[in-house]
Order: sequence, then C-alpha cells, then structure tokens
Amino acid sequence: MGSLETSGRPLLNRRLAGLGTTIFAEMSALATATGAINLGQGFPDTDGPEAVREAAVRAIREGHGNQYPPGPGIPELRAAIADHQRHRYGLELDPDTDVLVTAGATEAIAASMLALLEPGDEVIAFEPFYDSYAACIAMAGATRVPLTLRAPTFRPDLDELRGKITDRTRLLLLNTPHNPTGMVLTPDELAAIAALAVEHDLLVVTDEVYEHLVYEGAHHPIAALPGMRERTVSISSAGKTFSLTGWKVGWAMGDAPLVAAVRTAKQFLTYVSSGPFQYAVAEALRLPDAYFAGLRADLRRKRDLLADGLRAAGFEVYPPDGTYFITTDIAPFGEKDAYAFCRALPARCGVVAVPNSVFYDDPEAGRTQVRFAFCKRDDVLAEAADRLRGLG
Ligand SMILES: *Cc1c(COP(=O)(O)O)cnc(C)c1O
Repeated sequence: MGSLETSGRPLLNRRLAGLGTTIFAEMSALATATGAINLGQGFPDTDGPEAVREAAVRAIREGHGNQYPPGPGIPELRAAIADHQRHRYGLELDPDTDVLVTAGATEAIAASMLALLEPGDEVIAFEPFYDSYAACIAMAGATRVPLTLRAPTFRPDLDELRGKITDRTRLLLLNTPHNPTGMVLTPDELAAIAALAVEHDLLVVTDEVYEHLVYEGAHHPIAALPGMRERTVSISSAGKTFSLTGWKVGWAMGDAPLVAAVRTAKQFLTYVSSGPFQYAVAEALRLPDAYFAGLRADLRRKRDLLADGLRAAGFEVYPPDGTYFITTDIAPFGEKDAYAFCRALPARCGVVAVPNSVFYDDPEAGRTQVRFAFCKRDDVLAEAADRLRGLG
C-alpha cells in the first residue's frame, strides 16, 4: 500500500472523500468469505433467456460488435429501444437522435450528472438513494438534497418536495420503481412532480431500470406527461429486465439536445461498450409480451415467498410494489443498528442482507431497515427463510 497522502494532500479528492467501498461489494465479499446465502446484492441466480444468450454468442462468432460499435450504440438496438417505448408507453423517439446506448444504466446516470450539472447545482433525489447517485452528483460537484421516503409506505411527501426547491435546484433525480424500498410512483404523484418541474423549469433524470418489475399497479414513465419530454432524460437497462446484470447494456432517452449533452460526457467515459451484447439485447427487447408477463409473475411469486418467510422469522415487512427487494425493519428483534446487524448476520444464521441505513443522509430515517433481494431460486429463498427463523 502506498501513502494515502502526497504533498500533504489526500490522494482521494474532496468530491469523492467519504464514498468508500459500495455496500454491495462489502456485503457480497462477506457472503463469499462466509459461504452465506447472498440476499444482499440484487442479481438473479438464474441467467436470462437462452435465446438471448445464444444471440450474444452468435454475434461474437459472426463478427458483430467485436470491434468498436458506433458511439451512440448500434442502429439495431436503438431502433429496438424506440420500438419498445412506442409499444409499451406510446412514446415516440427518433432512434438516431433520441437514444443513447451506455455501459449499463450506471454510466447513463453518471454521464447525465456530468453533462447536465454545474458545480453548486442542487439535485433533489429520494432517499434512501441508490448508491451511485450520491457518487455521481458528487463527481459533478453538485449537492444532493434528499427527499426522505418514510416507512411504512415510502410514498414521497410532495409538499416537502416543493419546499426543497430553491433557485439553485437544477435537477430532480427520480427512481421508479424505487430501489431499495420497492415504491412505485402513481400517476397522480408523477403528475404532481411533473407540474413542479415545469413550474420551476427543472430537468428530470429518471432511473426506470425496474420498469418491467411492477407487481401492483403499473409503471408510468414521467416523460410521457405534458411538458416533460423536453426536460426529461429517461434511463433503463437490460440487466434487470432480462436477468443479465453482467452484460451492462443500458440506455438514455430523451429529446435530441438532452441526449446530445449526455452523449458528450458518455463518449469520454467509455466511448462505447458491450459490442456483441448490444446485438443480443436488440433481440431481447423484441421478445413477445409473454416473456415480460412471465418475468413479472415469477418475481411476484418470489416476493411473496420471501415476504412470508421474513414475517415468519419475526421481521416487520414492508411489501414492495416493484423491484427485486423487500425492505424490512429489525426493531421487533430489539435491534437498533442495521449495519451492525448485517455484518453479524452471516455468522448468526448464514444469510447476507444490506442495511438501508447506508442509503440515507438522515441517519435516523433508516437506522433499523434491512433490505433482502428475492431475485433468487425458490429453493434458495426457502433455505434463507429457514435459516432466518433461527434468529428469534
Ligand atoms: C441495478 C441498478 C442500476 C444499474 O443498472 P446497470 O444497467 O447494471 O448499470 C441503476 N439503478 C438502479 C436503481 C438499480 O437498481
């Protein structure tokens, strides 16, 4: 290990200080080290459709995408993304100017923050945050302003949102369905948020990677609402929708000037990525509706399986309307600190989970919340529930 300082200055710059290692890496390493069941990180333990995986193999064999693909993404994938948005939501996108393929949603989020923010701008985002939001806002030199989602429903308080808007507010960073709470914004909430964005002339970046994983109600893109198209960057990804989180194919969508801005940052982050996978994802997006309905039904059943197991084990369970995750409260066990609980959990009963407390700026708000992922095989969920019953 080298010195942590040089010329009397810390190596890690001030913007990134305190960001540390992501909680997912820390808890997944703990799962590997202890052999515990990993319900921490949100990745499925069954790979996505065979036809889609075969399409990637075929693309590599046939020489599609083995060399740098075009900067905005291959035309086949951009067309498939535009068709998906029209088919699902009635949104019209020009695949040549309104769609940008990225290295997962993660890069789309980073490029959006780097492109759209000036140092000193304020970004309002729901807390608990998906952890890359805080880092990307920090890298852009901007300031995050949390809007706290509170148990048991985790619905945003829209009067509180209005109160957080200042003349420095530049952007609302939305996430629906929301990780980690599973909250899904309703049409009324989306309309109210859109009205605030229009009234205050704000940009909106919306992370919709769980758009197909909604178990109650439906997903509605805010970009479809009046006045929103010209101010909204919508982000999604193949990872969650096709159970292929390692492929890292994501996309940003919006009016041409917004996408051009995001592309300016993206081209100097990765330039391009995932060549052959882009061909396969173009095919995946054209899977029949039955695939998407099947995925949703399957995960809804897993949600219910794990929720029942967690309740039986003594957790307070906040059933999610979407995503891969169930947020619980550990107060019924007399526990006071989710982080300490999660560090001890593998030794206590052979299960790994993630403390939601690390996703809040307000240390009190999520102090006793623990998140479990249910995107796992049924037998794994049943075994985890069995083990957790030993906590008592
Ligand atoms: C998983 C996840 C991402 C990252 O998506 P990638 O396509 O893997 O980069 C972004 N946002 C949320 C809310 C997520 O849960």
